Parts: sequence; C-alpha cells; structure tokens
Amino acid sequence: MKTEILMMDPDNFDSSELETAGQILRDGGLVAFPTETVYGLGGNALDSKASEKIYSAKGRPSDNPLIVHIGDISSLDKIVREVPECARKLMEKCWPGPLTLIFKKSDIVPKETTGGLDTVAVRYPSHPIANALIKGSGVYVAAPSANLSGRPSPTRAEHVIEDLDGRVDMIIGAGSAGIGLESTIVDVSGDTPCILRPGFFTEESIREIIGDVDVDPVVLAKTRPDKDMKAKAPGMKYRHYAPKGEMTIVDGERTSVAEYINGKVNEGMSQGKKIAIITCDENKDLYMQGVVMSLGSRKVSGEIAGHVFDTLRQMDELGVQEIYAECFDGCSLGDAVMNRLRKAAGYNVVNV
Ligand code: AMP
Ligand code: MG
Repeated sequence: MKTEILMMDPDNFDSSELETAGQILRDGGLVAFPTETVYGLGGNALDSKASEKIYSAKGRPSDNPLIVHIGDISSLDKIVREVPECARKLMEKCWPGPLTLIFKKSDIVPKETTGGLDTVAVRYPSHPIANALIKGSGVYVAAPSANLSGRPSPTRAEHVIEDLDGRVDMIIGAGSAGIGLESTIVDVSGDTPCILRPGFFTEESIREIIGDVDVDPVVLAKTRPDKDMKAKAPGMKYRHYAPKGEMTIVDGERTSVAEYINGKVNEGMSQGKKIAIITCDENKDLYMQGVVMSLGSRKVSGEIAGHVFDTLRQMDELGVQEIYAECFDGCSLGDAVMNRLRKAAGYNVVNV
C-alpha cells in the first residue's frame, strides 16, 4: 500500500488540510496522527472492519482493546451506557487531555474495537491536529499508539514512518508529541474508580479530583506480575516497548548505581559488546565509557518522561547489545516512567 505522508504545523494550519484524512477515515481507511501523548493510528471505531485493519497494521493481538477518541464531550453519550459522577468530575478537569476513561459500552461499539469486552475506553485529546481531524471527519476514531506492536510508542513522525510506512493510508507528521507517554487510564465502569495505567495525570492528581481511587497492582509491580495478578487493562500484560538489547534497571544509591553500571560496561566492552547507559543530566558525568544517553534533567518537570520512548528506539538504531538504566522513581511522572522502563526491561531489576 502507498502511504501518503502529510507534514503539518500544529501551531499554524487550516482544517481544510485535513479533508483527505477525514475522507480516508470515513471510507474505513487508516490515518496516523499526532496527539499530546504519543502518535496514534486512527480508524473508524464503529466500523469493525476498520478496527481489524488497525490490529493487522500494528500486528497487535486482537484481545488488546483500542481507545476511542472523540472531538467533543457531547459525542460521549452515544457510545457509553452511563456516565458516573466521578467520571463527570474527571472529564471537567482533565478533558480535553491525556486521560482515558473506561465506561460500560453501548451497543453501537463493536466488540472488535473493545477486544471482546463490554466496556469501552474513551479519550478526548487536546492536540489541535487530533481535535481538528476527529471533528472534521465526523467519526469516532479508534486510535492505539502508531507503532508496530511490541515496539516503543512513537513520539515523533519519523518513528511512525519507520514502523507503518506502506501499512496505512496516511501518516500526518507534526513534530514531537508533547508528553511522550501514553494517557493515564482510569476505569470508571465499576464500583470504585481504578487506575489501570499511569501517565501524565498521577495517582495524587486523580485523588485530588475524585477522592478515593484504587490502583491496579500490576501498574506499580516492581517484579514481573505473576499469573494470579491479572492486569485489568489487557495491554498491560504484553511485553511492550522492548528494545532488542538486553536491558537491566539498576536501583540503589546514586554512586553505588554508577559503580555497578561502570563495572558492567567495562566487562561487556572487554568482550567486544556495545553497551548503553540510560541516565540523566545530573549523573551522566559519572559514566566514562559506553553509549551514555541522558533522558534530561531530573529537576525539569516532564523532561525524563518525554525522552523515554525516543531513547529506547535509539538503542535499536545504535545496535546496542546491553542496556543499563538508572531508576527514576522520585522524578516528575516517576511512576509512569518506571512502569514503562520496567516493562521494557522485562522486569529485570538489580538492587545494589
Ligand atoms: P494504546 O492505545 O496502544 O495506548 O493501548 C490502549 C490500552 O488501553 C490497551 O492496551 C488496554 O490496556 C487499555 N484499554 C483499552 N480499552 C480498555 C477496556 N475496555 N478495559 C480495560 N483496558 C482497556
Ligand atoms: Mg500502545
């Protein structure tokens, strides 16, 4: 398939530029587009054939449900059975924005879109191009991250082109996705709201808005969740974001971590291996050898989170065989960053 690539300026565009993209969505085709979290791969959420195309373009298992994106709050009622009070509060404070809510679904949402579940995930994104595309197309847009399944989520147009060129009808490129991590997911379909995936909205910020909230234990698991600990968000069970090299997270006091990693780098390099270190601006000078990759400053809000996926992709481009990453627990969005890094490392964590 020939993929049309459309480059746009998110700060200065005319919605007429999105007419072809809207037509593709109405015709059941696929369009990748930027959002404020990561790039998404969109198709008509109410058309089961379009959802099937999304699964096949990504190589995604069909029991891993898609998030349905809307362009205004009034579109919500048609696709959900009820909107509980806690959801209304969250929508008022966080929409449009990087928050996905899980509702009981209405009959018009096909099971192909929800991976066979009776619930549906809904998000109202704030990115101007995402918003104009959804509104202009007039369709509900199912849009998982625009990467091949298992690869790190795409935060730049180049990542999407790398994974999906030739597999989708159109890719809209518009610089870096702002936050760089996928949306926070909160399930509001049960008795107590529950965080299923951490993201830009933290547990604390959700609690400030609705009071009590549970957190799915899988989200914060420091070791590989065992079979009894079944993830409530189906996607959380898959090995995600994994670079090709063997990745280890090293937890402990700053200088002990550096000492351990430097020892491993030395050892690996003497065996002729290419080794990388994922660190931060404050610690990067502690490492003298190997490919030293800083995610940015721990003190700048959101900076570490914004560079996680891009850095994981670069590991593959550089042909790195072993990767050692510091822990980023206490940083801004630390829970969300560590959730992604632990999964990327297959929960391979060393305490020093
Ligand atoms: P992605 O769009 O690639 O960021 O992945 C979307 C994720 O949202 C899925 O992998 C699921 O983990 C989660 N999700 C979507 N729909 C539901 C649902 N109905 N119930 C629980 N989790 C969901
Ligand atoms: Mg994804």
